[in-house]
Amino acid sequence: MKTKMKLKSIGKIKTLLVASCLVSMGSIYAQDEHDEYKMLFIGIDGVRSDALKQLMDDDLVPNMEALFATGTYTFDSWHLGITSSGPSWSDMLTGVWENKHNVTSNSYTGSDYDTYPYFPTRVKECRPNAKAVQVTSWSPMSDNVYNDGWDNKLIPPTDDACALAAQSQLIDPALDILFVHFDDVDAAGHGNGFNPAIPAYMNAITYVDTKVGQVIDALYARTNFANEKWVIMLTTDHGGTGTSHGGNSDTERHIWWVANGYGIPSMEITGADPGSYRFGDAPDPELIQTTPVLTDIAVTAIDHLVPGTDCEESHKADWALDGKSWLDEGSLYVEGNNFDNIIDVNIFPNPNNGVFDVVVNLTQGENYQVILTDLAGKTVFEKELEYFDGYSKLKVDLQQFENGVYLMSVKSGDKIITKKVVKH
Ligand SMILES: [Zn+2]
Repeated sequence: MKTKMKLKSIGKIKTLLVASCLVSMGSIYAQDEHDEYKMLFIGIDGVRSDALKQLMDDDLVPNMEALFATGTYTFDSWHLGITSSGPSWSDMLTGVWENKHNVTSNSYTGSDYDTYPYFPTRVKECRPNAKAVQVTSWSPMSDNVYNDGWDNKLIPPTDDACALAAQSQLIDPALDILFVHFDDVDAAGHGNGFNPAIPAYMNAITYVDTKVGQVIDALYARTNFANEKWVIMLTTDHGGTGTSHGGNSDTERHIWWVANGYGIPSMEITGADPGSYRFGDAPDPELIQTTPVLTDIAVTAIDHLVPGTDCEESHKADWALDGKSWLDEGSLYVEGNNFDNIIDVNIFPNPNNGVFDVVVNLTQGENYQVILTDLAGKTVFEKELEYFDGYSKLKVDLQQFENGVYLMSVKSGDKIITKKVVKH
């Protein structure tokens, strides 16, 4: 990532974290400095989690894989509502579930966007001059939606044309929020089947990856990119089963997202299915707090775009958002990881109850050190480990420590990788 700084010492990470905590309390930024906080939100319709994972394992979606490699991601985002496109994108763009936004079909009939608008409307309550643009070839999202906060809504005829339109928009220095929606994977699923075993479906995902690459290249080519604080969010709205979706099967409900960009660390979030509002008992209220779900997208976006402002704080209760921000507590703002290093580190589960496994893969025979600190920089766990066979697993128990966010650094020689651990 061009925005990341390389770090040589844990000490520097600690220093930056203290600064991050101040940011989250809203004490050091003047209002107008938020102009630099920007978001590219790319939505690909109808991509099952297992399908994307398989394509990544086979290195067939290099542009998306690059975002995952250096971003915060999950293959465990769960759909709690109606797995149709209109309700699903509404969950993500408003940050509330369908009992509030009231969109239950692709007709968008009865929607209550006056009470629960898309997140750009919320951002503009704090940043009135923010500029937001939507690009989609799927006309219901453009034609049937009001009070969405977009300054411009473009409806190119195809995904190719959407990518070109997005590239043009990204030249605009004044742009703050761009939402680009790609529809062809969903069409391939309806035509051939939503299934990793169906080549036409998988080829459609591989193809849209090239569109994602074009859009991201245009982002990185912005004249002032180095001075802007962009976060890319990439996700899907639902999976599918057979040639349809809209139901409650796991393959329709099990989706994914990735966030990448300014201050976002390299980290995987795993989570168990909290259940659905559509069948059985109500979703598990505790799991909703720890598992990624669709409504988190808008809330995370708002948190990035108006970080820690009095404006956001004073409006939060009125907005009555259901989602949670993955930027909470300043926790994602780890200013830099050494992303070129040889270490691959995974934490399971994460978030967790304090007990978790750390799996470290090394490509050469160096010993390494695992250090956990709290956000104040105090070390809570430290262990030296020897290299053996390129792979090792370590069990960590933080049950005696308070719930919250911890940072785990794995050091090998002068290489370091830092990941966030969330204890609930
Ligand atoms: Zn859809």
